[in-house]
Amino acid sequence: MNVPAPTEVIVGIDLGTTNSLVAWQDQRGPRVLPDAEGRPILPSVVRLAADAPPTVGHAARAHAVEHPQDTIASVKRLMGRDFAELRALAERLPFALVEGSRGMACVAAHGRTFAPEEISAMILSALRQQAEAALGQPVRKAVVTVPAYFDDAQRQATRDAGRLAGIEVVRILNEPTAAALAYGIGQHAPQPETIVVYDLGGGTFDVSVLNVVPGAAEGDDASGMNDAGDLFQVLATAGDTSLGGDDLDRLVMERIEAAAAEQFGGAVSLTPSVRQTLRHAAEQAKIALSHADTVPVAIEFGGGRGLELVISRAELESMAAPLIERTLACCRRALSDAGIAADAVDRIVLVGGMTRMPGVREAVGRFFGRVPYSALDPEQVVAMGAAVQAAVLAGRRRDLLLLDVIPLSLGIETVGGAVAKLIMRNSAVPARAVEMFSTSVDGQVNVLIHVVQGERELVADCRSLGRFDLRGIPPMPAGVPQIEVEFVVDVNGILDVSAVERRSGRRAAIQVAPSHGLARDEVDRMERESFAHARDDMRIHRVIDLVVNASLDIKWIGDALQRVRSDLDPAYAADLDGRIASLRNAVEAARRDPVAANADVLAEAKQALDVASVRLHEIAIARSLREMPAR
Ligand code: ADP
Ligand code: MG
Repeated sequence: MNVPAPTEVIVGIDLGTTNSLVAWQDQRGPRVLPDAEGRPILPSVVRLAADAPPTVGHAARAHAVEHPQDTIASVKRLMGRDFAELRALAERLPFALVEGSRGMACVAAHGRTFAPEEISAMILSALRQQAEAALGQPVRKAVVTVPAYFDDAQRQATRDAGRLAGIEVVRILNEPTAAALAYGIGQHAPQPETIVVYDLGGGTFDVSVLNVVPGAAEGDDASGMNDAGDLFQVLATAGDTSLGGDDLDRLVMERIEAAAAEQFGGAVSLTPSVRQTLRHAAEQAKIALSHADTVPVAIEFGGGRGLELVISRAELESMAAPLIERTLACCRRALSDAGIAADAVDRIVLVGGMTRMPGVREAVGRFFGRVPYSALDPEQVVAMGAAVQAAVLAGRRRDLLLLDVIPLSLGIETVGGAVAKLIMRNSAVPARAVEMFSTSVDGQVNVLIHVVQGERELVADCRSLGRFDLRGIPPMPAGVPQIEVEFVVDVNGILDVSAVERRSGRRAAIQVAPSHGLARDEVDRMERESFAHARDDMRIHRVIDLVVNASLDIKWIGDALQRVRSDLDPAYAADLDGRIASLRNAVEAARRDPVAANADVLAEAKQALDVASVRLHEIAIARSLREMPAR
């Protein structure tokens, strides 16, 4: 292969069974190139209309059920396969599969046949146009990913599809290797590592066991290496070509149909358009339940028959349990083929939209006994890894950070928009920190944990890495809950943040990739800004602290004053009222504009109230003692 010119555009393409994506890496790292409407994902669906050009993507998918005979989904299953191998599948497909030249499987529609390569080429063309529009330059070359188990014929068919779309496929890359590359796996390992890639997509499940040997490969070996020359060997693969998110969607559809049958007294017959609506609603409900505990579903079955029901996450998880168990059986098989025990695996990478489901993450974590990598979007991670490889082949230097140290401090947001730093910049990886926090409001049952990165004192000036809720804390007075927040950064720079409320044992966690897309110059800028603003930041931090503490004073002193007002000398009570009012004014002004606020004025008003209220506290305590029931 000749060495490409340094400025050449080579994109990375994940040509998926259900969804396809195109990504590109620039100085800021790999990113998916969205379509004109900002959608990152292109459904791998093509409608071959009789008298119009084919429709590709969202529009084709939205009407797939209404046009079953000429809408082609999951064409990837047909790539490079003989018709004879696919006889069983052909019976289940809504469109016609026929034997083409050399015994290959072909699609028949509107009186002509289409090779799977042609249909894949329509998807690739759409991705190419999407990339060209996003980058503003022509795109002629790509790295395209395929499942690790694809044979030569399937890989060749993928190359041919590229050629038909006007794309030179400069490398075919295994999907699990791409996912590992996106996480920078290999670069930092001092010795070989075993990686498991768990990929649960729309219609297929694949698990791969990889051995990564850092710096083992020499020259431009095609088998899968990154810029550091790390070698990715596939030790074993297993999977199920008819197991994925679609199966769960089908179970949810059945659940909705059963509810309809119950409500309308007998099975409802479904027109294609109602079936389409039902399918869409089932998938949306499944997706919503990845972050909500319950989801309302409303379906119009026609003839004035409207159905409304609520599906819970617990219900969905019990439907999903047998499917998840089947994926774990594949994991067992792959591990045994590779001759490796589950606890000898160094890292697990999650791929595929379905791994957003908390139940899937938990099951995989439990099976391997460690937290799987999920910091990058599991639907985008394969395309991002393809883009990483593409950038290497294009001769662009990877000017991203090599993470031997944490480039920017990591912390969480505390009351009033201030930052509590847990891990300071320049700490060596791996790193760990634990800190205790509490609530600021009485009876608070949810706490939002907002993870940020940067050197500045205020959240607004730092980079937000992610947020999650710690829910279900029993109601307690402010300051009583003990929330332990733990940060763990591993050798690849992946940050796991977990929070546990110690009294109740409630816990929640998130994983993020703090280095992702941070180039050296960006880190430099953030550091410079932090020095330039250090004085301002400290002043504002002080204002925020004062506002928080003064608000608590106002509340507590105000409450005590109401309780014991009848015991007080009226002049003293009026004096306290006045001091509370002036502190409240100062607090409100500082809340409106913390930058302009005068911390000294605020501190004086707070101090004046604190001093004046000493006697009030004495009187309040005396009163409480008096009112205590006699024993
Ligand atoms: P493929 O690799 O087969 O093209 P994807 O990785 O794009 O598939 O995964 C598609 C599947 O992921 C679909 O079944 C979709 O419904 C599911 N999915 C997407 N987002 C979520 C989510 N938040 N929770 C659960 N499932 C999801
Ligand atoms: Mg995929």
